[in-house]
Amino acid sequence: MLALHDTASGRVVPLGLVPGEEAGLYVCGPTVYAPPHLGHGRLVLVFDVLRRWLEHRGVRVRHVENVTDVDDKIIDRALREGRSPGAVAEEAEAQWWAAADRLGALRPDEAPRATQWIPAMVALVEQLLARGAAYATSDGVYLDTTVVPDYGLLKHQDLGELRAGARVARSDEKRSDFDFALWKAAKEGEPSWDAPFGAGRPGWHTECVVMALGLLGEDFALHGGGADLVFPHHENERAQAVALGRPFARCWVHSGLLTVGDEKMSKSLGNFVTLDELFSETDPRALRLLVLRAHYRSPLEVRPELLEDAARALERLESLARRVADAPPASATAEVHALEATVDAAMDDDLDSPRAAAALFSAARQANALLDAGDVTGGTALARSVLAQFAVLGLVVASGGGEPDAEALDLLGRREAARAAGDYAAADALRDALAARGWRVEDAAGRSRLRR
Ligand SMILES: [Zn+2]
Repeated sequence: MLALHDTASGRVVPLGLVPGEEAGLYVCGPTVYAPPHLGHGRLVLVFDVLRRWLEHRGVRVRHVENVTDVDDKIIDRALREGRSPGAVAEEAEAQWWAAADRLGALRPDEAPRATQWIPAMVALVEQLLARGAAYATSDGVYLDTTVVPDYGLLKHQDLGELRAGARVARSDEKRSDFDFALWKAAKEGEPSWDAPFGAGRPGWHTECVVMALGLLGEDFALHGGGADLVFPHHENERAQAVALGRPFARCWVHSGLLTVGDEKMSKSLGNFVTLDELFSETDPRALRLLVLRAHYRSPLEVRPELLEDAARALERLESLARRVADAPPASATAEVHALEATVDAAMDDDLDSPRAAAALFSAARQANALLDAGDVTGGTALARSVLAQFAVLGLVVASGGGEPDAEALDLLGRREAARAAGDYAAADALRDALAARGWRVEDAAGRSRLRR
């Protein structure tokens, strides 16, 4: 089972999750003020792969990803364009989900919007005030970070060192540079909500801790986001939970940042290439493959030639898929078992997708060689296993779409029969045949169904 790098401990730790167990995954989602860019694409893909891998291992993931729909950037753009903040947020949120869908990311189980959770945030601020962990100033309510003994845990610095290095400008009323706004007092022309401690709007860090605890409960398995969120955002989310005396995330997962390496791609927007710009020129799956070929914690530089290389690799997989499309289901061979073991070991080891992808491409070459040599059964079994395992990682190679056709339903029926008869090798071969056609089998409540 999966071991993952935990930012808090700085080590790769076994998650201790068992098949059938439910695990909460909270991912910090978008602040919806502009179309998503390539960096967002990587974030979405990394956590999609993590979720898919956990589900492949039998864990029932409850995936929550918040939408920050009240924020300075949204308000600024609304003022600039003479629109309401709600209209800006609604438009940008629609762009976000459309882009995530095109990347083939599974939708979160819950995507709470900050504005829907204001009463819970007000209650949290009241509790922190009542515990003496927060204080009011003329411009809002702040958390007193000195009540959190291990503040700086995620950043791996103690508070004293952090204070000594601080260069943060602060109002005279703030007691410490690291104290942060739980609640920002209402200002003319900005959205605000009533609260016992004065009208205003929540701070960003408050939104996430409230929604994570509210939807996943205490002591949930995984909290994730981009590496740029470690400090202060995640540190401050955690600080609030600690100040409340409530257990929070057990493991903190952060994806590396993405840079764009070529001026041509960055256009007039600096290093900002939107996903829509990418989709107009490139198959979205090329970005997924690029993301898989880099370790999720490493920085990833996107250059046009890397995307082109990924697109060519996809074409090779597609031609392999065509070669075996009409072959009958083939039972797993020793090569298939070895490949599965290699991929499982790589992915369980802190999601080492570059190692898994390299093994899969090597097996794809081997499958072609077997087919060239006339070994249809061995070549087909290996090819389908390659395609099925890429599909587990969200990379669906076979073409097609819409409703399952008669052939897919037939394969599903035979797989259910094989499972009922306890013939799991046959069931796995049929699952691979379905995955090679782009269908993912979901087993839930004693029933199986097909999803793209
Ligand atoms: Zn967050």
